Amino acid sequence: MAKYKVKVLRDLCIGAASCVAVSPKVFQLDQEAKAVVTDQDGDIPENILSAAESCPVNAIIIEDENGNQVWPK
Ligand code: SF4
Repeated sequence: MAKYKVKVLRDLCIGAASCVAVSPKVFQLDQEAKAVVTDQDGDIPENILSAAESCPVNAIIIEDENGNQVWPK
């Protein structure tokens, strides 16, 4: 079971791709240059959190296993 649940708010994403740079197994850009989650468990939790923190528009939402929002704070 993954420690974090990750989702991308598509409407906010501007395709800056910093999430992809930090954690490429979890995030990829789709054909519309919006980030999608390709593998929730593709990286260690600390890196997934770093990727979310790197997003300039806070488009990445991270919840813990209890559904509590971890990021953005
Ligand atoms: S860092 Fe944020 S804005 Fe950039 S691609 Fe990822 S989700 Fe989208």
